[in-house]
Formats: sequence, structure tokens, C-alpha cells
Amino acid sequence: MENLSLLIDLHKHAKRQGPGGDAETRKALQFCRVDPARPIKVADIGCGTGSSALLIANELNASVTAVDLLDPFLDILKIRAEETGLSGRITTLSCSMDHLPFEDEEFDILWSEGAIYIIGFERGVREWKQYLKPGGYLVVSEITWLTGTRPSELQKHWDHHYSEIDVASSKISVLENSGYSPAGYFTLPEYCWLDNYYNPMMKRFDAFLKRNGNSAEAKDIVESEVKEIELYKKYSEYVGYGFYIARKHS
Ligand code: SAH
Repeated sequence: MENLSLLIDLHKHAKRQGPGGDAETRKALQFCRVDPARPIKVADIGCGTGSSALLIANELNASVTAVDLLDPFLDILKIRAEETGLSGRITTLSCSMDHLPFEDEEFDILWSEGAIYIIGFERGVREWKQYLKPGGYLVVSEITWLTGTRPSELQKHWDHHYSEIDVASSKISVLENSGYSPAGYFTLPEYCWLDNYYNPMMKRFDAFLKRNGNSAEAKDIVESEVKEIELYKKYSEYVGYGFYIARKHS
């Protein structure tokens, strides 16, 4: 089995495919001054199995386009939407975030939790803006330095994995220089990483390895996740997820 299928197999049964939490999605939503009765259009880009898409569809009078590259995640999202009576409000779209088929100024809110890094923060912020109505909101969570300096082991790891990682003030400058006004910022608490993401993942490791015949590839994936978890636990003071809420200029 190739690596991508294994990664899907490890992650598709999770509620989330990255750090986050319903309370934090709701908190970010509160920074968007949107009347919950007004019909609006939202796109959730890199939605995974849909925790944020489902919450937004439930809390607002929103028609949500849930975009992901991987169909197995979207299939689960569809089941979750049916189970929660939200399928009438959610449309799934299997597509890459760098080739979005949207109209100019189509959306009131563009949402993306733990996924904009795939296209790169600056590129995503700039390219996606065209799809937002003037006055619409961009809401993204993004790996962020929590301190001005940090240990070299951590710096090296992230320089290698995502060179755009930066402090919040730099990310906010990117927003300001790309035609948005910052409307809110907060960081995800540690439980969003540990209780909501890493601990449930660790509980799935044994079954994952068994399902995949303890293959070397499956073991490699577990090993690299374990390393990531250890690194996070060691350095959570220095690195986290920032939630950025920004309003497109009129
Ligand atoms: N927002 C979800 C998932 C975050 S993980 C959550 O917070 O739980 C990142 C997601 O981006 C995964 O679901 C992955 O399948 C998706 N993804 C990866 N590359 C992509 C691309 N090029 N275009 C769209 N989605 C992509």
C-alpha cells in the first residue's frame, strides 16, 4: 500500500485531521460579524472529515462548500452531515486548493483550519482573496512561533518542514499588506493538540499497525508521528497554532 493510502487510513477515522476544537472554531466565528439569520456562503478549504464545516453549517444560516483533495475524507464528511441533518447545507468539492473553481466575490467567509500551509500562508491569503466578497472574512489557523526566539532543534525542524513559519506579528503584516484588516487573533490551547488530536491518534496506532500487517511503511508513519508528538510536547511553549481572522477591504 502506498504512503498516501496509509496516511488516509490513519487519519480518516479521526474527528479532526489537525489540532483544533469546536470551542475554538466557534470562538473564531464570533470575530466575524455575521448575522446568524442572514443566508451566507462559506467555503471550508482543506476541510478533512469536516469538523469545522459541520459546526459552521449548524451555527449560521450558511451554505458551506467543503473542499478537500482527498475523497475518502469527503465521503466521511458526507456521512457525518447526514447523521447530523446538515447534508442540505453542505456541498463537498473534491479539488486542490490551488485550483479552486470559484467565482470572484462568491463567498462571505473563507475558512481553513490547519491547511493553508499546504499552499503556503502568503500565497493562500493572496490567491483566495478574489473569491471573497468585499467585507467578507478570511479565517485560517496556521502554525506560528509563540516567542521571538526559540531553541535551535525546533527552529531547524520547522525551517526544514515549513519555512514560512513565523511570529503572529509577521503573519498579521502579510494580511495587512494583502488587502485585509486584522479582525482577531488567538492561539489554540494545548488541549487542542493533545486531547483533540495527538492522544486520539496515539490510541489508533495499534489497530492501524494491525490492519496494515505491521508493514515497514506503517511503522515509519507511526514513528514519524511519535517524533512530531514528542517535539510538540517538549517545545509547546514556543510553537502553536494561531487563529487569524481578517476582513477583506471594501
Ligand atoms: N481542516 C481539517 C483538516 C486539516 S488537515 C481539520 O482541521 O481537521 C489538512 C487537510 O488538507 C487534509 O484533509 C488534506 O487532505 C487536505 N489537503 C491536502 N492537500 C490539499 C490540497 N492541495 N488541496 C485541498 N486540500 C488538501
